[in-house]
Amino acid sequence: MQVEKDRVVAIEYILKDDEGKVLDQSGGRGPLEYLHGHGNIIDGLESALAGKVVGDAFEATIEPKDGYGELDETRVFEVPKSELGPQVKPQKGMVLTMTAPSGTRIPVTVVKVKLDSVVLDGNHQLAGKRLHFSGTIAGIRKATKDELSHRHAHGAHGHSH
Ligand code: ZN
Repeated sequence: MQVEKDRVVAIEYILKDDEGKVLDQSGGRGPLEYLHGHGNIIDGLESALAGKVVGDAFEATIEPKDGYGELDETRVFEVPKSELGPQVKPQKGMVLTMTAPSGTRIPVTVVKVKLDSVVLDGNHQLAGKRLHFSGTIAGIRKATKDELSHRHAHGAHGHSH
């Protein structure tokens, strides 16, 4: 069996940035299972995995535009500290949750703390980064009917949704 549409694929992976810093990895959590061919993982990674068999190694370098997008300057903005609420003590690198006018909650990263204001960045933390994936195919199986109708993989422990 090979990696192709409608297979549930398990991968062990490490994700690094251009400097070799580890951004994410499956180690510890166990392999990541996903349903192939349904856009559940980023495109460039999915195409690097297609056609592989269990035990195969893979490597994929994903440009920002094919990953989490380019950094969008318009998502960097400054707000007065008073808007954060009195209980928030902003520090560089802290992730806060803001509520957009539409009601959507978005995570923003504090990039700068000034005397009376803070600079926030609403870009995804992996935006603007070239992503270097490497790993091995840990398992491939046929998707179940439920998984196909839900368009995602279900874990070994079942699910409740
Ligand atoms: Zn489901």
